[in-house]
Amino acid sequence: MTASRSAREKKAVSEAGPLARVKIDLDEHRKFVYKISCSQCVAKGNRNWSAYRPGDDNGFMAAMDRWIFHLREKHPETDAPCLAFLPEAQQRLHERREKHDADPGTRSAGDGS
Ligand SMILES: [Zn+2]
Repeated sequence: MTASRSAREKKAVSEAGPLARVKIDLDEHRKFVYKISCSQCVAKGNRNWSAYRPGDDNGFMAAMDRWIFHLREKHPETDAPCLAFLPEAQQRLHERREKHDADPGTRSAGDGS
């Protein structure tokens, strides 16, 4: 049973911390699209930072990873529950880069063969 959109949104909001604005949409295939934007960067009139990732749990993790890196880079004084996942986010970034380096020409269609 898939968690409802509002339940996912609530979870994302609580993990992303006070600066994040989290929105979950449905795309044309009725898949979740996660959007996280930064309320502080918007308020300062900086470029509207946001992470936008489609997918279910994959999309959630990818958007949250980007948000974690944004917090660390731009708002190091801010605390948020998602920062507990920083080592995992860095690990995933590292793995994506290695995969890309090893196989630059093709985009894998999925796991396995
Ligand atoms: Zn920001």
